[in-house]
Amino acid sequence: MRTLEDFNFEDKKALIRVDFNVPLDAEFNVTDTSRIDAAKPTILKILEDGGSAVLMSHLGRPKGQRNESMSLKHICNVVSDIIGVQVKFVDDCIGEKVDDAYANLESGEILLLENLRFYSEETSGDTEFAKKLSNYGDIYVNDAFGTAHRAHASTTIVADYFADNKCFGYLLAKEIKAIEKVMQTGEKPVSAILGGAKVSSKITIIENILDKVDHLIIGGGMTYTFIKAQGGKIGDSICEDDKMDLALDILKQAKEKGVEVHLPVDVLAADDFDNNAKTQVVPVEAIPEGWQGLDAGPVTLGNFKEVILKSKTILWNGPVGVFEMESFSKGTIAVGNAIDEATRNGAFSLVGGGDSVAAVKQFGFQEKVSYVSTGGGAMLESLEGKTLPGIAAILGQ
Ligand code: AMP
Repeated sequence: MRTLEDFNFEDKKALIRVDFNVPLDAEFNVTDTSRIDAAKPTILKILEDGGSAVLMSHLGRPKGQRNESMSLKHICNVVSDIIGVQVKFVDDCIGEKVDDAYANLESGEILLLENLRFYSEETSGDTEFAKKLSNYGDIYVNDAFGTAHRAHASTTIVADYFADNKCFGYLLAKEIKAIEKVMQTGEKPVSAILGGAKVSSKITIIENILDKVDHLIIGGGMTYTFIKAQGGKIGDSICEDDKMDLALDILKQAKEKGVEVHLPVDVLAADDFDNNAKTQVVPVEAIPEGWQGLDAGPVTLGNFKEVILKSKTILWNGPVGVFEMESFSKGTIAVGNAIDEATRNGAFSLVGGGDSVAAVKQFGFQEKVSYVSTGGGAMLESLEGKTLPGIAAILGQ
């Protein structure tokens, strides 16, 4: 795996695909700088070597049209503040203006290009467009994990024009190592905690990880499809009736593979999907009509904790309850606390994909787990066992 350490960037210009798709408020202020912070080590290494950096990214979904509200000019000063170097901005990502700015770029300087997605050629993976982008660097660095699952011009196709002069940035390399640690080299016992709303969105992950884990904890809205499929009464809880056969098949496969599956045994049920609804703890297979399970119950949380504490490698994807409502957030917090304790005892814990990151941030767990992935969709696809095109392009696959 070729990383930044394999290159000396002295007098070299690096074309870096970053993920600066940051949230902006109505006045175009950046409301969360984590993605810019995450790219900082890569940019600094290149500048400290004595090279210069050309940064390219997308922002929002302008769908191939110029759209000032999604211009990267809005974030230029924030990037400058975070990196500590005044960033130069050019209001296009290809063409003469960029050619000039690139020709004049000196060591220690940073050039930020305009939103790549102002061109539809970016998302269609157009080779001519990618070739033009490739003119803006001696070495290509991909540090955008969030878009590594897309075969776009700047994330994948452009790499073809750099022969061996391409590598992963620090962030992308960290993501790859974290996934490898869970999926290939993790110390046993390996446990996956899968929550979230639907079985259908997690099915490929479950099928892929059954070969890799010792324990599978299932929580959240997914639970009820499994419970109903086994003949339980789930009241008005969320359920995908057409996935019940699949749920039974997963349980069968798990048994054959020697994976211990841990489903909730009790739940906090509510008489409405509302933070102020009436609640009661009931057995998961005996939820009364008119009630729905919205969080894990106390016995369940005790069971989950026991499994988590004996794990040496932990993957967490998806909340075990409707954590957005305070009344139903306790289960997700308890799981986070158990992972925190296991991590302090030496386990490796990776959190990623979809809403699990939102939950982790909301409850301040990001400092307590070993690694929080920066890519929702890219992480899900990695857990599904797919090789991401942006990663394959650097590996030369
Ligand atoms: P996902 O993006 O698939 O990880 O799903 C996350 C969503 O699942 C969150 O918005 C939770 O509110 C929701 N969720 C978790 N548990 C339940 C439940 N028991 N009933 C309904 N939704 C749930």
